[in-house]
Amino acid sequence: MKRYDVVIIGGGVGGLTLSVKLAKANINVLLIEKTKQPGKIYKGELLQPKSLEGFLEMGISEPIVAESLSLPIIHTYEMKQKHDGSLEKALYIPLEYDRLYSPFPEARMIPHEKLKAILLNEAKSYTSFEYWNPATFQKFTKTDEKNQQYDRAEVRYNDEVMEVEADYFVGAEGRSSLMRKAMNQHVVTTQYNHQFLTVTFPRPENFLEARMYASHDSFIGLFPLPDNQVRSVMLIKPGQYKKMKKEGIHTFHEPFKRFEPDLYEDVQSIQTWKDIQLMIPIRHNIHQYVKGNAVIIGDAAHTVHPMAGEGMNLAIQDAVVLGELLVWMFQEQRFESHYLKYYEKVRKKRSDRLSRLSHMSALAYTWPFKWYQKSRMFALKRLERHPILHYKHMLNISGVGWWPYSIVDGFRFLGPRNAYLKSRFNTKKKAVIFSEQDDYPWQNKQVK
Ligand SMILES: Cc1cc2nc3c(=O)[nH]c(=O)nc-3n(C[C@H](O)[C@H](O)[C@H](O)COP(=O)(O)OP(=O)(O)OC[C@H]3O[C@@H](n4cnc5c(N)ncnc54)[C@H](O)[C@@H]3O)c2cc1C
Repeated sequence: MKRYDVVIIGGGVGGLTLSVKLAKANINVLLIEKTKQPGKIYKGELLQPKSLEGFLEMGISEPIVAESLSLPIIHTYEMKQKHDGSLEKALYIPLEYDRLYSPFPEARMIPHEKLKAILLNEAKSYTSFEYWNPATFQKFTKTDEKNQQYDRAEVRYNDEVMEVEADYFVGAEGRSSLMRKAMNQHVVTTQYNHQFLTVTFPRPENFLEARMYASHDSFIGLFPLPDNQVRSVMLIKPGQYKKMKKEGIHTFHEPFKRFEPDLYEDVQSIQTWKDIQLMIPIRHNIHQYVKGNAVIIGDAAHTVHPMAGEGMNLAIQDAVVLGELLVWMFQEQRFESHYLKYYEKVRKKRSDRLSRLSHMSALAYTWPFKWYQKSRMFALKRLERHPILHYKHMLNISGVGWWPYSIVDGFRFLGPRNAYLKSRFNTKKKAVIFSEQDDYPWQNKQVK
């Protein structure tokens, strides 16, 4: 039986990013992925600045930038429904990434499988990396509960049941993580009163802006991808999917005619429901990301509502921090599992905050009432007009830093809309940007 330094279960973006970090540092890593690649499920495609910074540190940002499309602004529109059912723009809010201090003052769209392929190719270029696919982690077969040590795992690979041993096991298997279960983690689940339909289809060459449209009872997000494609996300009520399928594919096309007529012709290239994916949002929270020598990252540790585009980014950022920590542990020969708690210390607080922020963003679009839309517009207007609120929002979703919300923000939200001039504030506040010491607190410090 072969023994590895680290076994990673799950070759999604989180597991792959971690593989690259470890393999690059000559740590023997085995990555186990159960689905034959490339995967066929739509997943996250929007990269936030902090994830891009992580790839820059890892020396792999170049191919990622080359294969992605820059979105410095997300254009959001509130649409008012007129008596005849048509829509008119009632409010425009640009969410501006270019306010941020970062080498990447932008979000970037990249096809999910393309990103995974870049990471996998990079990992494969190191001899310390081994990849089993398709292979499924089934259970731990040797554990020392008292010392919280997981020593051996059972994996089905090539129709054979094999056992592998490792110093550390990492669960990166997404929302239905078996590792999380094996670690006896209690999961708190939040469900939502809406679902999404999502699909990618061709776009006109000049459709290069990310646009989100909301009326009192509908929501459509449009995110351009490279190669003249656009990813669309449509909010629906539970049960609506079944009804739409019964009535015909035109029920999926129609909202585009109302919200974004420029894409109406293109969306009609989608002619079968098989191409459209139903996405049921869910939120998972747990208390512990580390137990002994077992660690969980990404969706396995925290599934978030997709509204703020954070899930994939949290997985990447978890992997960057855990990777940096494991490399340090191996280099410094500090093999005791308690050092892994540094990962939890850095990442849990950040993931919890972004999970909450994603949840709040989801709530803003939850109820299909006109008065509800009016309240949302009230808040959005202030977010746009007040430079501190706007900067805070962009900084916090970018992952580059965190500026806590305060009671004063309540007054900022309630204050008169036109009382602030953008130029009166220097909002690029460096103090709230994460430093290297915040990201990797075990470094440059006498730790025991
Ligand atoms: C439709 C959709 C849209 C989304 N949009 C966004 C977005 O815009 N922005 C964003 O940031 N996030 C988005 N997300 C969320 C994002 O895709 C996830 O948060 C991200 O993929 C999590 O990465 P991960 O590596 O933790 O898990 P996953 O990507 O789920 O990867 C887990 C991997 O583990 C494998 N696996 C599972 N069990 C086992 C096992 N027992 N043995 C071996 N392998 C196993 C799976 O096959 C899978 O490949 C979206 C998700 C969906 C579904």
